[in-house]
Amino acid sequence: MPLDIQNYRGRFAPSPTGPLHFGSLIAAVASYCQARSQKGTWLVRMEDVDELRNVAGAADTILRTLEAFGFEWDESVIYQTQRKDTYEYYLQQLFENNLIYRCTCSRRDLREHATSGNLGLIYPGTCDNKHYSAKIEAALRIRTQDRTIQFNDQIMGDYGHNLKQDLGDFIVKRRDGLFAYQLAVVIDDEFQQITDIVRGVDLLDSTPRQIYLQQSLNFHTPGYAHLPIAVNTLGDKLSKQTGAHGINKRHAVSELVKAMNFLGQTTEPGLENASLNTFWQWSMENWQLARIPDTEKITYIE
Ligand SMILES: [Zn+2]
Repeated sequence: MPLDIQNYRGRFAPSPTGPLHFGSLIAAVASYCQARSQKGTWLVRMEDVDELRNVAGAADTILRTLEAFGFEWDESVIYQTQRKDTYEYYLQQLFENNLIYRCTCSRRDLREHATSGNLGLIYPGTCDNKHYSAKIEAALRIRTQDRTIQFNDQIMGDYGHNLKQDLGDFIVKRRDGLFAYQLAVVIDDEFQQITDIVRGVDLLDSTPRQIYLQQSLNFHTPGYAHLPIAVNTLGDKLSKQTGAHGINKRHAVSELVKAMNFLGQTTEPGLENASLNTFWQWSMENWQLARIPDTEKITYIE
């Protein structure tokens, strides 16, 4: 059932795997400006569902940095690690609707039996209808359908996948007991009544999976706008893994101006020397989503 949502609700959803770097600042700025320019609500969610990747203290560091940069979120921050009961509840719904099954395939099984597709290995459905007991350690997969799931991205244009052909039945709960990112995100977006998602283009190919999960759970589907991502001179996404350093709180306005320029918004000369208040006021008055380049990767030299 679609929710009765009239007002824009956006969000920024970092993973606490390290300090906020320029790559994530872009998503924070764009989602914030878009929400505020629509007189909407803006929320922050900690995507810490993959507990093996979380770094102690990183969530707090990210929140303190956002505050220092003048971001103001409207409701309490939610943490995925505190929402496991909710994820389990919806998993049971999928079970009851006969949409998921247990899979005991090892990585080696997959390498030997799966073919390669646009999104990685295509799961061949080996364990479908095997009805493994819940006592056996297994991943949970959702049955996909042989139809194209297409959407119109506000920046990147039409995009879609036939999940059955391009990916096969995909994992919603991992064999190690952790909920899959795709499932957690979809449940959280519904819970927070998000109407519009603005995030990096590295998540574009996750979107058909997320829309399929929304449809399977009778959730509404939000609007999507995927942003170009900042890459280093080698073409790698700026991230902790590729050595991106944290953004400097002491030069908040200058970092914010760089993010705005990255997003195709031409700022007034000298804005980098203005106060945070002046910067945000200028941004709210001048922000235009239509100016964001529709290229997937833009080189950014730190
Ligand atoms: Zn399997």
